[in-house]
Amino acid sequence: MKTLFALIILLLFVLNLHSQIIISDNIHNNTELIDSLARYCARDLGIDTAHIEICFNSTDFDKYNNGEYATVRTTDNKLFVINLQNNLGVQKIKRVIIHEMFHVYQFVKKELAIRSYCVYYKGTTYTNDSDYLKREYEIAAFKYTHDFQKAHKTELNSMIKILKTKKQWKNLQAYW
Ligand SMILES: [Zn+2]
Repeated sequence: MKTLFALIILLLFVLNLHSQIIISDNIHNNTELIDSLARYCARDLGIDTAHIEICFNSTDFDKYNNGEYATVRTTDNKLFVINLQNNLGVQKIKRVIIHEMFHVYQFVKKELAIRSYCVYYKGTTYTNDSDYLKREYEIAAFKYTHDFQKAHKTELNSMIKILKTKKQWKNLQAYW
């Protein structure tokens, strides 16, 4: 039953024809999971027109980037590049992708902008000196990540469970 439920969700991803998500390294162990998660979030956030490229990076972003495991950059609020730390476990990948997809949403909505070393969010300017956990755009992203995981717990668990087994994944691909 759970498998069927997850299959329906996966089929819904296929119907999402507008959003384009490219994962640059298709040999990464969790490529399918990351792709499915990003599409799932894009649908939930209604950001179907965004083109998102997800790249894996050996940089330990959490050391240099205030505890975050990825960065998201855009120059035109249409094409987005998410750089994801390449050594994350499945649960951390889940949280990070949901979090970064919310930042994409904030850019698309033009609530968030980055110019040189400053971040602008809803009329407030943040610099490198701003406390990470007090930044309103981060607070909003953490809240969305928490709420999304709570609201879609069953779907997310099914997705992870299925994608963990390569054989099952191959069977599912037949329906794509
Ligand atoms: Zn963030």
